[in-house]
This record gives sequence, C-alpha cells and structure tokens, in this order.
Amino acid sequence: MSTHNHPRRIVLRSLFATGCALCLPRLSLAQSGKMAKAQAQYQDQPKGDQKCGNCMHFIPPDSCMVVEGNISSDAWCRLWVKKPAEAPIGKM
Ligand code: SF4
Repeated sequence: MSTHNHPRRIVLRSLFATGCALCLPRLSLAQSGKMAKAQAQYQDQPKGDQKCGNCMHFIPPDSCMVVEGNISSDAWCRLWVKKPAEAPIGKM
C-alpha cells in the first residue's frame, strides 16, 4: 500500500486544508488591524453631535485607528468614542 494514499493521511490533509481555509479571513483582518467601513457602519455624515473629528480614534487629517480607508472628520461609525477633553497646557 502506498503511504501517499493512506486513508488516515487523506483525512488529516483534508482537516488541515479546511482549518487553513477557515483561518485565512481572520488572518487577513488581523494583518490590516482595522475594520472595513461597511462592518463599522461608516457613513459620510455625522450622527447628531458625534463625528470622527471628535472621536478618540480619529487621526487627523483623514485616518482612523480602527477603521480602514480615508476617513472624513465629518463622518461617523458605530465605533465612535468621545475624545477626552485636553488638559490646558501649563496649568497644574
Ligand atoms: S467615528 Fe469611527 S471611523 Fe470615525 S474616527 Fe471614530 S472609530 Fe474611526
């Protein structure tokens, strides 16, 4: 009997291939480290007084720490978190 066609090897190869296929989408998401705009429900308009420009994840002028792509300071997504107020400089 050929060792290449051993049923246990075939089963193990199939399980390995399936496992790799299931892991690939997670790895590609982890590589970018950011969520797609659609997943974050990104929209071009603010939501009330919530907008990227006052979100703690916003990186001026047009990026975000957690959502991929170009980000407008007037946009919004469901990951919005209020940016903490900056402490006045020189006051202790
Ligand atoms: S609202 Fe969403 S897209 Fe905008 S800066 Fe915050 S996390 Fe990023």
